[in-house]
Amino acid sequence: MLDRKTDDMTDQSNVRTKKLINAPEDIISQAIEGMISAHPHLLRVEGDSGRAVVAVDGPRDGKVGIVIGGGSGHEPAFAGYVGRGLADAAAVGNVFASPSPEQILDAAKAADGGAGVVFLYGNYTGDVLNFDMAAEECAGLGIPAKSVAVADDVASAPSDRADERRGIAGDFFVFKIAGAAAEAGRDLAGVTEAASAALSNTKSMGVALSACSMPQTGKPNFEIGHDEMEIGMGLHGEPGMRRGKLAEADHVTDELMEPILAEMDLPEGSEVAVLVNGLGATGLLELYILHRRVAQILGERGVTIHHSWVGEYATSLEMAGASVTLLKLDDDRKALLDMPCRTPALTVGTVAQARPAATTATRTTVQHAARDETEVRREDLATDGPVTPAIFRSMMIRAGERISADADRLSELDGVIGDGDHGVTMDIGWKAVRKALEQSPADETVETSCKRMAKAFLDAVGASSGPLYATAFLRAGTAVGNRLNLDAAAVVAWVEAAAQGVRERGRAEPGDKTMVDAWVPGAEAARAALGKDGDVLACLAAACEGAERGMNATKEIESRRGRSAKLGARSVGHIDPGAASTHVILCAMYDAAKDALS
Ligand code: ADP
Ligand code: MG
Repeated sequence: MLDRKTDDMTDQSNVRTKKLINAPEDIISQAIEGMISAHPHLLRVEGDSGRAVVAVDGPRDGKVGIVIGGGSGHEPAFAGYVGRGLADAAAVGNVFASPSPEQILDAAKAADGGAGVVFLYGNYTGDVLNFDMAAEECAGLGIPAKSVAVADDVASAPSDRADERRGIAGDFFVFKIAGAAAEAGRDLAGVTEAASAALSNTKSMGVALSACSMPQTGKPNFEIGHDEMEIGMGLHGEPGMRRGKLAEADHVTDELMEPILAEMDLPEGSEVAVLVNGLGATGLLELYILHRRVAQILGERGVTIHHSWVGEYATSLEMAGASVTLLKLDDDRKALLDMPCRTPALTVGTVAQARPAATTATRTTVQHAARDETEVRREDLATDGPVTPAIFRSMMIRAGERISADADRLSELDGVIGDGDHGVTMDIGWKAVRKALEQSPADETVETSCKRMAKAFLDAVGASSGPLYATAFLRAGTAVGNRLNLDAAAVVAWVEAAAQGVRERGRAEPGDKTMVDAWVPGAEAARAALGKDGDVLACLAAACEGAERGMNATKEIESRRGRSAKLGARSVGHIDPGAASTHVILCAMYDAAKDALS
């Protein structure tokens, strides 16, 4: 039987992985429901998003709140680490997709005990953008938030670019140390420092033996031969360092340990904690064989293992494979690691029963009310200028229509240097924007429309463009917040603030080959036209031309940001898709204004 290969077994692309699910669209909500029904004494859900899993006895007045989160598919990460002594709340995203700022905010509000919150998550662009947005919203609510993006995977970038590394199973140690530091009563700076120190001393590397498949499609997310392994592969199937023939466990373990040890200063007598983590389809039997070798290697160097964890702690759906993580200990980290905690996925020592946390509703309502009072009164808004709120909305609706009409071209551009979804993503986001604007009251100000657009875009789009465009809309709206109608100067301020919003959110500079390369020259050209006494139409025409020049110039640039950065020199010769969509938007704004005003 075993060596009788059918076509299905050799051609992996035709195999649909069997999954025990109900409807694909219910996977996350039902899994959360199941976690709560399994651990009602530990977990509850708070907030309207339904995606904030909160520790029943975690958040407490005066304690720094620990908020973790990320995409689903890594169970027990992330919600499995919610509980007394570890995380106070987790924001649960869709499979392999970051949670949205709204979901993170629900978790943050629940976790806040008045001493601020620390966000801990794996270092992926989508997560960074969404947690950064949530941190800003927290600040607006009077909740100070600090972030530590876990970047422990030594295979994902060289040590001189360690901040670009991905987060994999090392999350486990960083979460545990930070959770204990908060439980011990350290302040926001102290907890953040403990988390950062844990991160600098945590290194991981993994190996994949098989692909995994998204529950929605059942299709494997990459191809790997039945006799192959990929050393250094990421938690979502990102390429590793080397693909080769599957080797013996000891040999593989040596290969995983070598780069970790090369970067860790571990003189004889030092102490570490060890995590041998299964990726979803590799059993304990094999994981123990790996641990045996890890222990041998450390023993030969005179390094003591203070404690080991072997099992599934950060998985990749049903991928076969494993990762090894070392945490270098000092007295402080050792004490924090040993402190008690009680969560679905990890229990250390005995946790005293806490009094149940008070609900956070009262505090948040008060803070929201305080913010509303600062809003400008409508009769104080400037009315001079030809662009009425209704004309502004028609400009945005036109931008959305043009994006939808151009969606295929934008996706094709992204297919060349990215993952081919840019047109689809922008189409989804802008359709949501159009729908939101069509439903908005006729007398709504530009600023309020922009807020509505930001929320619509973000709720509809999880990828990088979601937070980038949401920030652009929010900043642009704020820049004209004192006006009812927009004059040329206000229109230029709107474009400049949108450009600046994208630039700050994505931390991309002109020349990185991103949409910034179209937004910035567009804004500069609009500013120059205003300097020459240009009217609204002249400024918008200049913005459109500036964006076009910028877009064309991206062809000659080597990418340094986003997915295309992985291509390096191979990205030269192709227009950046995000710059192309920016060009579409700015020119559509000009066309709609022309129709309305001339
Ligand atoms: P994803 O990269 O998540 O698939 P999209 O395909 O929708 O998202 O968008 C890709 C575009 O996003 C790129 O062409 C680039 O213009 C833009 N982009 C990527 N990273 C950044 C960043 N850090 N800052 C600004 N723009 C970025
Ligand atoms: Mg893309």
